[in-house]
Amino acid sequence: MENSCLFCRIVAGEIPATIVHRTDTTLAFRDIDPKAPTHVLVIPVAHHADVVALAADPAAAADVLAAAAEVAAIEGLTADGFRVIFNTGRHGGQEVFHVHAHVVGGAPLGPMLA
Ligand code: 5GP
Repeated sequence: MENSCLFCRIVAGEIPATIVHRTDTTLAFRDIDPKAPTHVLVIPVAHHADVVALAADPAAAADVLAAAAEVAAIEGLTADGFRVIFNTGRHGGQEVFHVHAHVVGGAPLGPMLA
């Protein structure tokens, strides 16, 4: 738990969020500013700044990917497909430095870099 981290504070229940899935090691909640009909953020409960840090903790990385797949199933995205995105660093457009997988879908998403 990092007191200054927005997503650690969501994990701690200090900031409200619409939670769609939870395990002992992950939390998934709806993005406050959705970019698609379904836009859910999947995070590890433990603080890792970005996907590079997450990759150094293979168990946590696997848990986040499994939770992302579970969220896609819960949200009914599996048949038509969806996208899982880790924005990373300044050029990647990362704004919150607690790693999060964006699970987006529910409509055609267009070219990947559009
Ligand atoms: P990033 O740009 O870091 O990959 O994505 C951060 C995401 O967090 C953005 O899509 C933004 O809308 C979302 N976000 C920022 N603040 C909050 C918040 O307080 N609650 C929720 N649910 N999402 C947030």
